[in-house]
Amino acid sequence: MQLIDGKAINLQMQAEILQQVEEMVKNGQKRPNLAVIQVGDDGASTTYVNSKIKTCHAVGFESTDVRFPADITEAELLAKIAEINADPNVDGLIVQLPLPKHISENKVIEAIDYRKDVDGFHPINTGRMAMSLPAFLPATPAGIMELLARYNIETEGKECVVLGRSNIVGTPISLLMSRKSNPGNATVTICHSRSKNLKEICRRADILIVAIGKPEFVTADMIKPGAVVIDVGIHRLPSTETQSGFKLKGDVKFDEVAPLCSYITPVPGGVGPMTIISLLKNTLLAGQHKIYE
Ligand code: NAP
Repeated sequence: MQLIDGKAINLQMQAEILQQVEEMVKNGQKRPNLAVIQVGDDGASTTYVNSKIKTCHAVGFESTDVRFPADITEAELLAKIAEINADPNVDGLIVQLPLPKHISENKVIEAIDYRKDVDGFHPINTGRMAMSLPAFLPATPAGIMELLARYNIETEGKECVVLGRSNIVGTPISLLMSRKSNPGNATVTICHSRSKNLKEICRRADILIVAIGKPEFVTADMIKPGAVVIDVGIHRLPSTETQSGFKLKGDVKFDEVAPLCSYITPVPGGVGPMTIISLLKNTLLAGQHKIYE
């Protein structure tokens, strides 16, 4: 069994992006600039936003940090998005989700200029991805594809089972895995809460991608020996084993599943570090006008 080390790939990609940014600066181009909007002060969102901004600076980007109180109106938020859309100094724009209930996430996503949509959530990017046209890919699925590519994991003709069909993970990763590309060219089955015979379906998988948001849901009896297991889940569970009183767990029961696998992503240190670096890769591509003019 080999562990897939997302933290190491993250650091490798940070160095690659930094090198490209220095090259851009040497050629008289400006540094890529990522604008991040946060609404409210939810603790998890603040941690994600701070970490995105910190990594921006580590790779030589500039950042535009916009924070609003939770009671901002939808109209005020949309006005700010329009202002940033029109700002030629900003290359990428993300709005940290979730948003307070009185603001429509779909309206906000659609308000972002698709050419600056480095989260890859805008319907134009989703549609272009589905058609295998150049597009900003959503960060977590893009990060998984990067891991498969960098570990030279064969996907062509393999049975890939995806657990979960969310717009941000399950659905886009199943599209990417079935595309005519490498990685890709897999035979994909997508499962959700209404699927029957989940264990039998999972046991068919050469590659099992799990994004269902249920701690330690996938157990050893769901695994085909030699399978590649990608665990997207993140759960902060109470624990007596750590000083903090918490332990991070995935959607996969790692201790019993890992010995059966050829490759597996740990939690933490697997898919998590790839999400943020994929967002920055998209911002680099935006700054270089590599997806759209
Ligand atoms: P989500 O929006 O809650 O979607 C969960 C999916 O799993 C849904 O499609 C749901 O089916 C399905 N599901 C739930 N219970 C099931 C069951 N018992 N059997 C079969 N399918 C079931 O979750 P998400 O946003 O995709 O996130 C999934 C997990 O990944 C969470 O733990 C999240 O924290 C984590 N995550 C991690 C990263 C990262 O960077 N590592 C990024 C994003 C998310 P229905 O559609 O039928 O409801």
